Amino acid sequence: MTDADDLAARVREGDLRLYELEEHADADTAAAARRLLLAEETGADLSTVGEYAFDADVAESNVENMIGAAQIPMGVVGPLPVDGSAADGEYQLPLATTEGALIASVNRGVSAIREAGGATVRVLKTEMTRAPVFSVEDVGEASEVATWVREHTDELAEAAEGTTNHGELRDVTPYVVGDNVYLRFGYDTKDAMGMNMATIATEAACELVESETPASLVALSGNLCTDKKPAAVNAIEGRGRTVAADVFLPHELVEETFGTTADAIAEANTRKNLVGSAKAGSLGFNAHAANVVAAAFLATGQDAAQVVEGSNAITTAESREDGLYASVSLASLEVGTVGGGTSLPTQSEALDVLGVGGGGDPAGSNADALAEVIAAAALAGELSLLGALASRHLASAHAELGR
Ligand code: NAP
Repeated sequence: MTDADDLAARVREGDLRLYELEEHADADTAAAARRLLLAEETGADLSTVGEYAFDADVAESNVENMIGAAQIPMGVVGPLPVDGSAADGEYQLPLATTEGALIASVNRGVSAIREAGGATVRVLKTEMTRAPVFSVEDVGEASEVATWVREHTDELAEAAEGTTNHGELRDVTPYVVGDNVYLRFGYDTKDAMGMNMATIATEAACELVESETPASLVALSGNLCTDKKPAAVNAIEGRGRTVAADVFLPHELVEETFGTTADAIAEANTRKNLVGSAKAGSLGFNAHAANVVAAAFLATGQDAAQVVEGSNAITTAESREDGLYASVSLASLEVGTVGGGTSLPTQSEALDVLGVGGGGDPAGSNADALAEVIAAAALAGELSLLGALASRHLASAHAELGR
């Protein structure tokens, strides 16, 4: 009997629980035992799920009850020239997706940007947020707490920053709703996406708030952060990296690349991305920023659930005298090059392709560069889809490449 068979038998006998297997075997054997049990219970063939190319131990802080790995095809777009505050030069961006035609489409936008001399991109704000909720007696007490917080930001920063070597508290914004006080803490988390870092730091700051004011902590996250839920606060105030990219394409280039005109692209953008999104009550006024953000997140080990706010973007397109001006502004792109899933093997290889793996010098510059490249690629995706819609080629491109 193999070790995995033995472990599986002990689970069947009720001697072990499924989540306890790593205490009795290495992580790969534990995963193999779970596959045996799951295959037995469901009749599914898990042989491909079990064919992963890394040591399961490295994923120990990323997953529980591991049974294997989901493998998503990875492609690449580039070279993508980016003139950024941290990114500078030509980048190849790995994208993991199951949507046929996506990479070809983004690459068409990339080639237009390249022909135009590159995209200008800037990280405009860096602030990962955590917003605990406190209960108070009434509005009077709530106002007292908010005033204390505004007057003691330095002490709150000292408490919060005592938990981290890299994180810096940028500001704390109080919001009051009746007898609820929400404190939205904003941190520069450097090269980390920062959600764990900000949460741990905020917990320390909350202890000070509780000891110095009548406020009583109800929940370390009061949903005004806002993590992994669509929320206007992220669109307005930003979260993670707020980043904007733009490009100017001369008329000839628009016609050669997209088979349409700057006027037609600008009109499609206005009627679809602006008016259509407004009528839909959408938070994102863009064509498909989520496509690039999701594929880049999966390839580079970002937290996939944060595509919710990562794709919170506004695309503009303007027909000018000499060509097309286009931009995309992503309000809340939460990315890191350390922590989370970034050190997993395929993900860290993808970051190496970009040259932004690990901590940057200065700290924060690698995550800034990653955010800028993703924003430039999102711009490429927007241009290409708008071009396809304006030239009415969308359905035929999908039929040719995606079916
Ligand atoms: P983390 O891996 O928990 O923390 C980042 C670590 O990297 C810290 O220990 C930090 O040390 C260190 N570090 C080393 N060099 C750094 C550099 N150059 N810049 C920044 N940090 C550096 O990652 P995280 O980004 O804070 O959190 C990401 C994880 O949180 C993901 O797995 C995500 O899925 C998860 N998540 C958590 C929550 C939550 O509520 N806790 C919510 C959503 C997602 P120092 O702190 O000492 O500086």
